[in-house]
Amino acid sequence: MKLSQFFLPTLKEVPSDAQIASHRLMLRAGMIRQTSAGIYAWLPLGLRVLRRIEQIVREEQNRAGAIELLMPTIQSADLWRESGRYDDYGDEMLRITDRHQRDMLFGPTNEEMITDIFRHAVRSYRDLPRNLYHIQWKFRDEIRPRFGVMRGREFLMKDAYSFDLDAAGARRSYNRMFVAYLKSFARMGLKAIPMAADTGPIGGDLSHEFIILAETGESEVFCHADYLARDWAGDVDYEADLQPLIDGLTALYAATDEKHDAAKFAAEVPEDKRRSARGIEVGHIFYFGTKYSEPMGAVVAGPDGNDIAVEMGSYGIGVSRLVGAIIEASHDDNGIIWPASVAPFDLGLINLKPGDDTVDEQCALLYAQLQAAGRDVLYDDRDERAGAKFATMDLIGLPWQLIVGPKGVKAGTVELKNRATGERLELPPAAAIERLLA
Ligand code: ATP
Ligand code: MG
Repeated sequence: MKLSQFFLPTLKEVPSDAQIASHRLMLRAGMIRQTSAGIYAWLPLGLRVLRRIEQIVREEQNRAGAIELLMPTIQSADLWRESGRYDDYGDEMLRITDRHQRDMLFGPTNEEMITDIFRHAVRSYRDLPRNLYHIQWKFRDEIRPRFGVMRGREFLMKDAYSFDLDAAGARRSYNRMFVAYLKSFARMGLKAIPMAADTGPIGGDLSHEFIILAETGESEVFCHADYLARDWAGDVDYEADLQPLIDGLTALYAATDEKHDAAKFAAEVPEDKRRSARGIEVGHIFYFGTKYSEPMGAVVAGPDGNDIAVEMGSYGIGVSRLVGAIIEASHDDNGIIWPASVAPFDLGLINLKPGDDTVDEQCALLYAQLQAAGRDVLYDDRDERAGAKFATMDLIGLPWQLIVGPKGVKAGTVELKNRATGERLELPPAAAIERLLA
């Protein structure tokens, strides 16, 4: 993509109403534009990142055996009357009336709808287990939308719903999502810590929030410091019993403030390992048994022919919140530093002297070679000062910058800069390409 033909409305001024780094940087880098309180248009650069995060989430959900579908944003109030949540949900629900005076709503979540889809399609225990998910926009009329996409009113969520015959099966489904979450966040370069979370009236221990530590986080959390040193990557056999793995992963203390037990924290964690911090919730997994299947009649015929209400769980990831969360975890004074896995482009190619034939030719060649090799290149071919180009590239945070100027071309070199480390190398164009394709 040539920057001269792209749509990248960067801001020079620091927006005064944006309180946290990620919000400021997303506005300055031309990733989003607020269209109403807590509602954002995703501009091309922002959309690229959103799509990449979505794709990582999708791949890991699929790998864990979940099956993608797509439910609508607009739902009928009748379904929510069946579960009893229509009146309970309160002011966060955006209620809509259609031309026939039917009560509709913009979905804040999809338990009722998926339960309805399930009960019409599945009749036998032989069709279990199933885990169905979608990645869809939600609307919650948050009382205080803030921090940009971190707490929006309209936001993109991956929500999965598992259906099992019994509690033991539900735990297996839960464990698969638990591992898939750790893998997803690790692929995005994040250290997300699974923390025991509130289970509500269901009780038990099957509710975890996945939290990224950040000063600007909205939750107060408590955990063992060793969680921060953990490497969550690695291959997993989803068919195997994951319980021992999960037990190992959750052995150390980690809890959100709702679940925090100060005495237990003090007893289990040595003083120098105790961390109390702020955190951003990027995901939440939750087992809720027959809370919806019972009132909504989502039953299957069991092995003995009797109807059994299915055991369910739900599993959410804040896809759009993650864009902000990743920036909170990875930026400096000059701008964003994208992990390669979610970067909007793989690299920026900077032409320091557009109009100079030799420089233009060298850039055109590099651009073509990198594209042919499958790299997504943002080519800054604009007629702008070098300083402004460097500032823009640093701001938008692509992992690599390939800089081509008249002096280098004469000497047979280009400059390669790593955005994260700041390391700069002067090397022949072929060597730069080799390095970038490594
Ligand atoms: P929170 O405690 O932050 O309000 P929640 O517990 O209501 O979130 P869930 O219903 O568990 O959220 O939704 C799943 C995920 O969706 C959350 O973990 C979070 O990452 C994301 N999310 C929830 N509300 C918002 C919002 N207003 N804006 C952006 N993302 C959100
Ligand atoms: Mg939650």
